Amino acid sequence: MLALAEIFYSIQGEGTWTGTPAVFVRLAGCNLACDFCDTDYSTKFFAGIDDIVGMVREVGGDCPMVVLTGGEPLAQADAGALIEALRCDGRRVHIESNGTIFTDLPDDVWLCVSPKERVDPRMARRANEAKLIVDERVPEEHLSLFAEKPTILLQPEGNKPANVAAALDYAKAHPARFRLSLQTHKFIGAR
Ligand code: SF4
Repeated sequence: MLALAEIFYSIQGEGTWTGTPAVFVRLAGCNLACDFCDTDYSTKFFAGIDDIVGMVREVGGDCPMVVLTGGEPLAQADAGALIEALRCDGRRVHIESNGTIFTDLPDDVWLCVSPKERVDPRMARRANEAKLIVDERVPEEHLSLFAEKPTILLQPEGNKPANVAAALDYAKAHPARFRLSLQTHKFIGAR
């Protein structure tokens, strides 16, 4: 059984896959407590793995992309089994993680790591996508973790104008490696 906050069908609003239809499975709970966190990841219901796979199909039909998010989606013991079941159901699994909990993931799982404080270096190396949250400043202290990544996403916290300006200035000053990532779903009123 896993603890969940919500399952819904929308589009990926952030990062490399922006604009791609996806079913979001928000797992409950997080092992961090960031000051700026505005996500409600409290437990709303419990469900077994087969039921979750069924709910994904019910809301998203054959949509190939399923995003496991949170909270911290890798914090629950059954997360690995859920990933496997979704892959067996023909889904391309994406994970949005804070990178603190080492998990051996299949090669076809897309891992986005967004560091908040400590990060397991193995998860930073495994990440397909590194997304730094810009909250008044670019958190340069995390950059060494992603030394091998050719591209780093800078995402302004809450789309706030001051954070957008800080991220944009930084990306323009380092154009070869940094890219702005906006929460575009919020512009269109999507979840
Ligand atoms: S890691 Fe993410 S979900 Fe967890 S408290 Fe921080 S911002 Fe919120």
